[in-house]
Amino acid sequence: MGIMSRSLEHFQESVIRKMTRKAIENDAINLSQGMPDFSPPLELIEGIKEGLDEEKHQYSVTYGRTDLREKISEKLQDYNKLVVDPYNELTITCGASEAIASSILAITNPGDEILILEPWYENYVPITYLAQGKPVFVSLSKENYSIDEEVLKNSINKKTKATIINSPHNPTGKVFSPEDFKIISDLCIDHDIIVITDEIYEHIIFDGLKHLSIGSFDSMKERTITISGFSKTFSVTGWRIGYVAANQELMNGIRKVHDYLTVCAPSLLQYATLKVFDLSPVYYNELINRYQKNRDFLHSQLLSLGMDVFNPQGAYYMFADISQFGMNDIEFANYLVKDEGVATVPGSSFYMNNRLGNNPGSNYVRFSFSQKLETLQNAADRIKKRLI
Ligand code: GLN
Repeated sequence: MGIMSRSLEHFQESVIRKMTRKAIENDAINLSQGMPDFSPPLELIEGIKEGLDEEKHQYSVTYGRTDLREKISEKLQDYNKLVVDPYNELTITCGASEAIASSILAITNPGDEILILEPWYENYVPITYLAQGKPVFVSLSKENYSIDEEVLKNSINKKTKATIINSPHNPTGKVFSPEDFKIISDLCIDHDIIVITDEIYEHIIFDGLKHLSIGSFDSMKERTITISGFSKTFSVTGWRIGYVAANQELMNGIRKVHDYLTVCAPSLLQYATLKVFDLSPVYYNELINRYQKNRDFLHSQLLSLGMDVFNPQGAYYMFADISQFGMNDIEFANYLVKDEGVATVPGSSFYMNNRLGNNPGSNYVRFSFSQKLETLQNAADRIKKRLI
């Protein structure tokens, strides 16, 4: 009998996070794991100082601070058009990642199928395996990463338990259209499927597009688990403060997992997070402007290098076709980090190998543009020196 759980045979450690370690080893500019290289709003830092004065060092209640849940519930109503009872339908988690894990573990029985739109953010797949579910990959359309109704429909069967969606989307920057959401919600209602929606990039959305939460669609509230957090919107990825909202039946299960998995999110940082609700609406516009400028800059740079790149509508990643350089994604990413000092993520980390062992992502690498514009300029200069 092997010493380790058989679930682990299905996956490896995160390549995104491995690339951050490689960036550090090679003293490279880190455009791999999406994280800002600038400070969060001053109000949040003040919040930590206040929290220290107030000695917020012990556990919070497992569901998270009540005042923070009340504030999040107001935000969910205003921004996401979701009515969520802060006492029974909301839990604060260690980042959106823990919210995803607790949700999948709470609803999955062995052999249940979980639909995962491909390409996907790494975490969804290992957690599905750990929950003894079966990930079923549903390709997004090749042209513009929208939902293909036939492909989605054909992936559904009696074992389908849930689908995970993510808009704005990592790694492509796709923002699903109202039509995409309608296709998903109609099929999920017809086939009694739960929707787990990861909306962590909800405030990073470009070109005047509006964020939509599928839980606000007709008859969707009861079957939707909505996940978001503070990491991306307030540039505090290391604080690990996320949350999950769902109806009481689902939430009771999610809370059971959360309680034993992490007990509670960091208390001091939950306290400091309350400060985000003092920020003015201008903050959100500035965030969008900053990232839209970054997007425009990096997109034009990658195009000038001859890469074919989907122009992101949201989030802070660019998924670039690098096939013309005569290297696969892993060779290219290793070359970039070692020889040029720029870390990216190999595209194969966002796809499953097909039956022939080929990976549809092997022609791509993902660049993050979550950094200062100046950092992106330095990275582009490094790449251009060698590649052109
Ligand atoms: N979402 C980030 C990325 O794709 C990583 C998040 C994390 O590491 N928890 O780079």
